[in-house]
Amino acid sequence: MATRLYTHPIFLEHITPPGHPERPDRLRAIERVLDDEAFSALDRVIAPEGDEATILYAHPGNFVERVRAAIPQSGIVSIDADTSASPKSWQAVVRAIGAANAAVDDVFEGRAANAFVAARPPGHHAEKTTAMGFCFFNTAAIAARHAQKKHQAERVAIVDWDVHHGNGTQDIFWDDPSVLYCSTHQMPLYPGTGAKSETGAGNIVNAPLAPQTGGDLFRDAFLSRVLPSIDAFAPDLIIISAGFDAHHRDPLAEINLTEDDFDWATGQLMECAGRHSGNKLVSLLEGGYDLQGLAFSVAAHVGRLMKG
Ligand SMILES: [Zn+2]
Repeated sequence: MATRLYTHPIFLEHITPPGHPERPDRLRAIERVLDDEAFSALDRVIAPEGDEATILYAHPGNFVERVRAAIPQSGIVSIDADTSASPKSWQAVVRAIGAANAAVDDVFEGRAANAFVAARPPGHHAEKTTAMGFCFFNTAAIAARHAQKKHQAERVAIVDWDVHHGNGTQDIFWDDPSVLYCSTHQMPLYPGTGAKSETGAGNIVNAPLAPQTGGDLFRDAFLSRVLPSIDAFAPDLIIISAGFDAHHRDPLAEINLTEDDFDWATGQLMECAGRHSGNKLVSLLEGGYDLQGLAFSVAAHVGRLMKG
């Protein structure tokens, strides 16, 4: 079995204001780097349409309708200070969810060794009832619940190495011990949550990193906090909230990782998946705003996924 890559042209049609870091060129940069023949063994799949009913796994219906009603007929409208919507945003958001859920189906039904979903907008800042931080709905949270509802997964671990804390994922699973949420992120930084003391029902593991942290302390955090928590939890599926904005080139933060660190962390989580989840692992793109840093990091991440 191969690593599956989910993409769709609609992800380029969620348009943000000029100068906004979360822009379509991010996906073009990923597409270009994965065009290399080193990635010819990737099983490339067009993201299927999403089932809107699955959004309700993580968000109440009145919030979903509020977001739908905010999508403009033309132009760009602000949803919050840094989140905006364009006419095709709804289609992009729902298809990103469709791709994540399909990737979960693939690993449970034996169609893929693992999967990477190259979609936008990202999702990890979306709380139960709040769209924020470039995010509308929490794709990783929906995919985790989809694994529980459709495939009877008892325990799902979400590992979030985006440089920003995934306040949305933490919010959604705050009192749900069937989902482990582990995050490494810069602190202080947007959105301000993610202290070690935030532990939910014992299922939230935050490993904040000080500005200017490099790969050594990131790996320490993984080895001392993230990986032992996953081993103790023994998940049936690992979902990675794969943001690449902790790369040293990224303009939105001050963590100094290299693509080798993402390669290493991917390998560690694959070993975890081998120990607990029958290798079931799905990775979802979150942030990453320097095009070169993003492209090199995704190449290292996907290259490691392909090694199986
Ligand atoms: Zn981020």
